[in-house]
Amino acid sequence: MTAAGRAPRRGKALGQLGVLPEGAILVRDGVIAAIGPAAKIEKLQDSRRAQLLDLDGRVVLPGFVDSHTHLVHAASRVHEYELRIQGASYQEIVRKGGGILNSVKRLRAASAEELKTRARVFLGRFAEHGTTTIEAKSGYGLDVTSELRILSLYKELGAEQPLEIVSTFLGAHVVPEEYRGKPGGTREYLVLLEQALIPEVAENGLAEYCDVFCERSAFSRAESRQVLVAGRENGLRPRVHAEQLSHTGATQLGMELGAASCDHLEYLKPGDIRALAKSDTVATLLPGCDFHLGLQLYAPARALIDGGAIVGLATDFNPGTSPTLSMPMVLSLACTQLRMTPAEAIAAATINSAYSLGRHKRIGSIEIGKQADLGVFEVADYREIPYYFGVNTCWLTMKRGEVVHMRD
Ligand SMILES: [Zn+2]
Repeated sequence: MTAAGRAPRRGKALGQLGVLPEGAILVRDGVIAAIGPAAKIEKLQDSRRAQLLDLDGRVVLPGFVDSHTHLVHAASRVHEYELRIQGASYQEIVRKGGGILNSVKRLRAASAEELKTRARVFLGRFAEHGTTTIEAKSGYGLDVTSELRILSLYKELGAEQPLEIVSTFLGAHVVPEEYRGKPGGTREYLVLLEQALIPEVAENGLAEYCDVFCERSAFSRAESRQVLVAGRENGLRPRVHAEQLSHTGATQLGMELGAASCDHLEYLKPGDIRALAKSDTVATLLPGCDFHLGLQLYAPARALIDGGAIVGLATDFNPGTSPTLSMPMVLSLACTQLRMTPAEAIAAATINSAYSLGRHKRIGSIEIGKQADLGVFEVADYREIPYYFGVNTCWLTMKRGEVVHMRD
């Protein structure tokens, strides 16, 4: 499966993946130098000197691009998981001091070394599941020191291990404890974001994107606008957590501000879908969240695809609402819950996600000149990757031509 061709993919083109049976790929200096039928590639001059990696009939995909994660966090929130199973709602858990603020408390108490060790383990697991690039957000620090610490960790991790990390500043995740319940607290925190944090993040090249959680329990549409505009003025392109638990109008706001992506979208309205279809903003769907929270409402993927919007898929890896780093599991959910075909789900998780991170010219498909970022799966047919739900069939992962995971 090459996913080669025009990017991003909309409508019917999303399901046209480009299957190459009995294919071979020639990699030189981490870049795809040739691709085609094995018989032809083997005859190339350069192939004779190349080291052979026999995939023995396995399925090769472009490495997954996970365009929405909250990689650095200090601890799981398994206690809330159990409370929710017993009937507590997300809002109730938030009111009881759980939720994001719980993660903030834990993160502030953790050392940079602890956070880094934990993140490294997760990055290894991402690679084991065929992911080669991830977007990673801050947002569990919510003060100057802790937010900068998270983003600095992403920079260090990006240099020290093979997976590519794209950083997003999410200082506007929720209003931190110390600003809550005092008059003008939210306004004061927004000033901190606009005048101290965002300029500092931008000046030090610590993020490419600025995100906001636009929701009743977090930031209003007007407050979200303020944050995203400040980010944009400092060169950080907007991304938005939109319409997850209610309809707030965040998607329209995102499109108006030229957001790279609007994510979640469970409460999308028909007008939003029509607007997304005409825009270059990616609709990134995160079905792991609805699955983990036991919600019945999933984003309207079919209407988005059939309408012509750019649909992407990601894990939303985070300790509260989606503790999975498995893109194969997200593909399974996309197929059974979002009614996407396996081919559509794979294109959404590779080339379209790469587009949402502004990297579609370099990654997201198997084409000459692109980085040799590949996932090899121990299946006979690509559709078996989502079909075997909860089973990791990834056999080998390659990043820039280097094997970063291989099953014995
Ligand atoms: Zn998120």
